[in-house]
Amino acid sequence: MENFDALEILKSYLRYPSVSTDKDFHEGMKGARDFVSELLKNIGFSIELVDTECHPIIFAERFVGEGLPHIVLYGHYDVQPADPLNLWESSPFQPEIRNGRIYGRGSADNKGPTIVHIGALHKVLSEQPDLALNITYVIEGEEEMGSPSMPKFFDRYAERLSKADMMFVSDTGSPTTDQIVITTALRGLVELEIKVKGPKSDLHSGIYGGAVYNPLHALSEIIASLHNKDGSVNIPGFYEGVSQIEQWERDELKRYPMNLSEYKSMLGVPGFYSPRGFTPLEAVRFEPTLEINGMGGGYQGEGTKTIIPSEAFAKITCRLVANQEGDYVQNQVVKAIEDRCPDGVEVEVRRGCFANAYSIIPPNKSESAQCSDFLIDAFSFTDSSISKEFKKSPLYLREGGSIPVIADFKNRAGLDAIMVGLFTPEDNLHAPNESFDIGLMQKATETFANIFRSLGKRK
Ligand SMILES: [Zn+2]
Repeated sequence: MENFDALEILKSYLRYPSVSTDKDFHEGMKGARDFVSELLKNIGFSIELVDTECHPIIFAERFVGEGLPHIVLYGHYDVQPADPLNLWESSPFQPEIRNGRIYGRGSADNKGPTIVHIGALHKVLSEQPDLALNITYVIEGEEEMGSPSMPKFFDRYAERLSKADMMFVSDTGSPTTDQIVITTALRGLVELEIKVKGPKSDLHSGIYGGAVYNPLHALSEIIASLHNKDGSVNIPGFYEGVSQIEQWERDELKRYPMNLSEYKSMLGVPGFYSPRGFTPLEAVRFEPTLEINGMGGGYQGEGTKTIIPSEAFAKITCRLVANQEGDYVQNQVVKAIEDRCPDGVEVEVRRGCFANAYSIIPPNKSESAQCSDFLIDAFSFTDSSISKEFKKSPLYLREGGSIPVIADFKNRAGLDAIMVGLFTPEDNLHAPNESFDIGLMQKATETFANIFRSLGKRK
């Protein structure tokens, strides 16, 4: 096998502007897809390009033999748009190295971590070309668009994927470059839009004020009813299935390298508001939420305009935790809103998408873990490899964000995920001057090489 100069390879990968949401970047998408496919081909993978309505999914496989350990890796070759361009210190698609970091759109999310995985595979397969490990690598091109093609992909590929033992994902974060987090849960998501309709057009508030229900008043009342005074969500059944937090999770979080005053100044808030007996750092991981993302209606211009608006709207999303059912929660929220709409106005609720949460209880942390022997070993190899390379044992934490496709891998193909976080807060994901720490990249490559070697020795 040829030499693998990970930094040069990552630079080349970053030069393809693979912005999935913008048609002008079609060539960049193709370039990135071909480039990463070629890397996998060079280390012995066979490549299938799975057609979708938009950007093909790379389904790469290294199959050595029936009955051998089989892992799945997941990543994405698309990136966020680079705007606003004027805030970049170097061009987003002309990668540059400064102060131990490689700068470029996608360097951390998700091209850097992909090169970590491929670099580790290259290393191990150069030493042991017949490594006894079957590997499937799925790299999609629509992650930044919300993975719209993945449901159809699972229709066709879930059965093949279900033959694997588990999966690895590195599309999550860690708090610092030496404190690696293994993410044990991702929140789910429910989207809704409410419209409250009153008179057929805006009305003069002097001539008609007192005769009709103002849609903005009605909407405010509905919205205010969705939470209790203590901040908990006031919707029947909302917390159904939400499990108790185990003590190890709270203990683990105490090792998180950030205190509350740092957190407060990072967020720029005068105080915290965390309901139901959770600290702020706990609440963002352990609790489901209902959030008003936007609200509007009526006159928004300068000065006063004496009207009763004809309609008012609000956008709502809920974050869900493990064991909540996305469609059930969505129905309960819709029902509560409809029930609470006062007479004199009408409410219309548009349902957006929903995604379930994902969670795994790591076997080394709790007796309630239900893992296969293979997964127990995979966790143990991952833990010891991280401890060895980063000189600190990993933290096992739930994450507030959502990667819906991970729950789909579990629900459609039965695969549990070990999520090793390789982003850090300095990486500026989705923002100008995205970068990836080169030291972390090297240590993570060694870590994954150790994991793959150990899995290959497992009989
Ligand atoms: Zn990502």
